[in-house]
Amino acid sequence: MNILIIGSGGRESAFAYKIAKSPKLTQLYIAPGNAGTGQYGQNVALKVTDFEGIADFVLANDVHMVVVGPEEPLVKGIHDYFLAREDLNHIPVIGPQQQGAQLEGSKDFSKEFMFRHNIPTAAYQSFDQSNLEEGIAYLETQKLPIVLKADGLAAGKGVLICETIADAQDELRAMIADAKFGDASSVVVVEEFLKGIELSVFVLTDGDSYKVLPSAKDYKRIGEGDTGLNTGGMGSISPVPFADDTFLNKVEERIIKPTVDGLKKDGIPYKGFIFIGLMNVEGEPYVIEYNVRMGDPETESVLPRIESDLVDLLEGVAKGDLENRSYTVSPKTAVTVMLVSGGYPGDYESGKEINNIENVEDSIVFHAGTKEVDGKVVTAGGRVIAVTTLQDNLFEALQQATADAGRIFFERKYFRRDIGFDLI
Ligand code: ATP
Repeated sequence: MNILIIGSGGRESAFAYKIAKSPKLTQLYIAPGNAGTGQYGQNVALKVTDFEGIADFVLANDVHMVVVGPEEPLVKGIHDYFLAREDLNHIPVIGPQQQGAQLEGSKDFSKEFMFRHNIPTAAYQSFDQSNLEEGIAYLETQKLPIVLKADGLAAGKGVLICETIADAQDELRAMIADAKFGDASSVVVVEEFLKGIELSVFVLTDGDSYKVLPSAKDYKRIGEGDTGLNTGGMGSISPVPFADDTFLNKVEERIIKPTVDGLKKDGIPYKGFIFIGLMNVEGEPYVIEYNVRMGDPETESVLPRIESDLVDLLEGVAKGDLENRSYTVSPKTAVTVMLVSGGYPGDYESGKEINNIENVEDSIVFHAGTKEVDGKVVTAGGRVIAVTTLQDNLFEALQQATADAGRIFFERKYFRRDIGFDLI
């Protein structure tokens, strides 16, 4: 089978690594990929939202399946584009159509979905220009802190946790009336604050049956001790020690089943991954958010733990017989440490030569923001490389991943040395 992966980050590197192991694979392509994905397949210089370019490539190169990494092409309708074209609609796309992608693309849609299907989540109200003053009055009645979320995609920046009513009121006005996050905040979800510890579970579904993929926890803040600015993710671990069988059973019964069934009941076709961001509130799971793709860096911890052939599972999604595909997970612990450019998530310089990757022997090196220039691998983004190791227990995995993160060199490299230490 010839497979095309769409995307260029650490997540897509992990997909490429895992798919390249499949006995079912003939040729792998990654569009656009990065300096590391070339070791698993052929990079193709196409933008992730260039649907026509992607379609031309797929037809010219006899691609049998398209696996979409990031949310943007899904929310913009890459799957619908394939279905709408007669010459393409026989080629399966892994990732939902636009309607299903609304679970991530609109927080108001996802909250309505959860309430309609009795899926535990924080209480909320949505506001827009037509009822902004009602929103301002509503905030007076709420407990603090209170969470304000731009309805649309805002690159992870559209969520504000306000500590005072006055601040929340100012922010609500700024979001709706002054378009603080552009169109994304023309609707705002005002949500109850949930106090607990966060984790993520991942589901692969053919729209009917599903496989629960390994749970993971990511570390979002730039600084050790989870301090400082938010980032795209500085590291992750899988499994999550506090997500024991009792907790995960609750997640499956109260959240995963009703989500997959809810999509079916609502007539929303869905073939792909669902990332469920959860808050564990005293042992009870609540949904914080849905994403319609895998997480980054969680994918780098999750996929290496899957022992089964991922291509076989994806084929099950495409054909609608996922239920019959074999699925096993390694009991080992994966730890991923992200190496970032100095200054990230603020301003940083790119183009720094990356050395000593070959010194890493007991971890997998997933390229993220890297590119090749004149035969050299250089930095090309904030998050540069993810180092993942699999070990018998969390402590060993933390030590190994941290040591291996230290072995790679580029100017102003930074990484957190405390990923997962809070859970030991
Ligand atoms: P990302 O892109 O980082 O996944 P997002 O913009 O899609 O984020 P959410 O995941 O909904 O937004 O929220 C971002 C973060 O805000 C969450 O990871 C969580 O830490 C915090 N948060 C969101 N909702 C709540 C809530 N109801 N109670 C407490 N914290 C919350």
